[in-house]
Amino acid sequence: MELIKNAATALKESKYAVAFTGAGISVESAIAPFRGENGIWNKYEEKFFEINYFSSHPKEAWEMLCNGFYEATLKAISNAAHNALAKLEQKGIIKAVITQNIDNLHAKAGSKNVYELHGNASKLTCIRDGNKYLVQDFDLKTAPCCKKCGAILKPDFVFFGEMLPGRDMSMSIAASRNCDVMLVIGSTGVVYPAASLPFEAKRNGATIIEINPNPSAFTNEIVDIFIPVESTKAMTQISELL
Ligand SMILES: [Zn+2]
Repeated sequence: MELIKNAATALKESKYAVAFTGAGISVESAIAPFRGENGIWNKYEEKFFEINYFSSHPKEAWEMLCNGFYEATLKAISNAAHNALAKLEQKGIIKAVITQNIDNLHAKAGSKNVYELHGNASKLTCIRDGNKYLVQDFDLKTAPCCKKCGAILKPDFVFFGEMLPGRDMSMSIAASRNCDVMLVIGSTGVVYPAASLPFEAKRNGATIIEINPNPSAFTNEIVDIFIPVESTKAMTQISELL
């Protein structure tokens, strides 16, 4: 409880606090993480998420994507941790959420200023002209096509072999350099370049608060306040003090 109080105090006194979230924040929304025992890589072949494979076998890739992966992602609802972050943004405490997640749950919770380092599964993008669409407007049983040019649509999240979205990445770097408190939630800290951002924040003098049931690659390196608790529980308690 002392740790929760310390975290709440740091947030209360901050001028520019940002959150950095990874798969752990969505586990309690029944979103499977990519890594670990129940991870997506244990269920699906990694090749389906490679851009070269997708480009050459789009129909086969779409069959796999709509078989389980998309269903689970689209019906997931935000949990108490996502909701607390949205509430803290409304109160003017959290200025931005930087997320590695593609599940759209920060937006569903009501967060407005969200930088999505790995894209967003709720949108589709044309592989030819980059037009964007909402996934809910398509029946995914057949591979969806662009309404303007007819080319195949790709989920608007980052596949292996693709660049990270430039604007989201540069906004995230700026937010990491400018923040005085960074709240790191549910990230293992092993996926780069995303994992470099908390280090960037620390180098620029930010206080790093980490919420994670287990230590991450950040914990012993840069974390000032480590709260080894599930994110829903910790965020609910912190939010009650603010
Ligand atoms: Zn198109």
